[in-house]
Amino acid sequence: MRKHDRGMMPGPLTKFPSPAVEEAISIRRHLHSRPELKFEERETADLVANFLVRHGYETRQGIAGTGVIGMLDTGRPGPTICFRADMDALPIQEETGLDYASTMPGKMHACGHDGHTASLLLAAAKLASDNAQLNGRLKLLFQPAEEGGTGAVRMIEEGVLAEVDAIYGFHNRPGYRLGRVFAKTGPAMGGTSVYEVTIIGNGGHSSRPDLAVDPIFVGASLIHSMQSVVSRRLSPLEAGVVSVTQFHGGNAHNVIPGRASMTINTRDASPETGAMIDRELGRLVKSICHAHGAGVELTRILRIPPVVNHATETDFTVAVAVEVVGPDNAGYVHQLPTMGAEDFAFYLEKVPGCFFFVGNGEDSAYLHHPLYDFNDDVLPVAAGMFAGIAHRRLGIGALPRGG
Ligand SMILES: [Zn+2]
Ligand SMILES: [Zn+2]
Repeated sequence: MRKHDRGMMPGPLTKFPSPAVEEAISIRRHLHSRPELKFEERETADLVANFLVRHGYETRQGIAGTGVIGMLDTGRPGPTICFRADMDALPIQEETGLDYASTMPGKMHACGHDGHTASLLLAAAKLASDNAQLNGRLKLLFQPAEEGGTGAVRMIEEGVLAEVDAIYGFHNRPGYRLGRVFAKTGPAMGGTSVYEVTIIGNGGHSSRPDLAVDPIFVGASLIHSMQSVVSRRLSPLEAGVVSVTQFHGGNAHNVIPGRASMTINTRDASPETGAMIDRELGRLVKSICHAHGAGVELTRILRIPPVVNHATETDFTVAVAVEVVGPDNAGYVHQLPTMGAEDFAFYLEKVPGCFFFVGNGEDSAYLHHPLYDFNDDVLPVAAGMFAGIAHRRLGIGALPRGG
C-alpha cells in the first residue's frame, strides 16, 4: 500500500472563510433556480467559466458541447490531478416551495448537481489562492449531461484525461448522516444496460391463433423467463436486476399483431455480473423467441459500467476524509449504497481514482424526487475533501506517488 501519511494537514488547508462559503451557497441557490437539462447547460457553463477566470484558471468552454475545463498550472513539476463535477438538471417539476426553487417549468436540480458544481467552485477558489503551496497541475472538469447523456464519454473523447494521473468526484447521498464522508473500494455504484427487443411474429385473426405467431404471447413468456437470469444464473452472493420497462404491441381488439417491442433495463454490481447478464439475457431472449417460431432483434442501446474505485485511491480518499471531517464522520462502506448508475464510471476505466459520497441528511428526500434539495452544509465538506486531496497530492513536500 502506498503511504500518504506525512502528518495531519493543518485545518486551514481544508477550511473556508465564511464569506467564501456564503458565496458558494448563493451560487448553489442561483444554479438551483435556473436548472438546465443535459447538453443545454449554457448559463451554468458561463457562470462556471467566469468564476474560474476570475480566480486565475486557464479556462476552456464548449468541451463535449457545454462542458468547461479549468486548469491551474503551478509551473512546478508534479502530477496532474483531476476533479469532476456534473452540471445538469432533470425534467422534473419541483415541488419544494423553496424561495430559490426552480423558475424553469418542468426542470429541476433533483440530483444535487447544483451542489456538486458549487462545491467544486468553492474548492477552486481556495486552491488558486494556495497556488504557492502546490506542485504540478490541477484540472477541473465541469461535465454536462450526466443524467442519461453519458457526457463523460464525450468529455473523454475530447481528450480531457490526457496526462491526468488520478481523478476524484463525489455524489451527495440522501439517507446518510449530513456531512458524513464515505467511500467503497471496488464497485461502488451499479452498472446499467438498456436493450431494445423486437419480437417478430406473424399477425392474424384473433380467432385463429393457430394460423399466427403471437408476439404478445411470446413476449409474456419472455417477461417471466428472463427473471431466471438473476434467480438461477447469478450467484446469490452477487447483485443484479432485470426489469422490463416497456412492452408495446397491437392496436386493434381482434387482431394478433405481427410485432411487439420491449425495453429491458438491467443493473449489475460488478463488470463480471454485467457481462453475465448480457450473455444470458441474449441467449434466453433468442432461444425463447425461436422456440415459439418467432424471430427477434435484440440491440443494446446503452451501457454504463459500474463505478469501480481503485483500492489505493479509495484508501487515500478515506484517509483525507478522516482529516477533513474526523474519524467519527468518515469511513468505508462495504455494500453498494445504490444500484443507480453514474457515468463517472467511464473516467475510472481510464485512470485511477475514487468516487466518494457525502451524506445529504437522513431526512433528505431521495434523489430525483420533486421535494429533494441539496443541503448547503455539504458544500464546505465536499470542497474540503477536494482541497484536502489536492494538498495531499500536490502539496509541496508531499510524498511522491508510490513512495
Ligand atoms: Zn441523478
Ligand atoms: Zn446525480
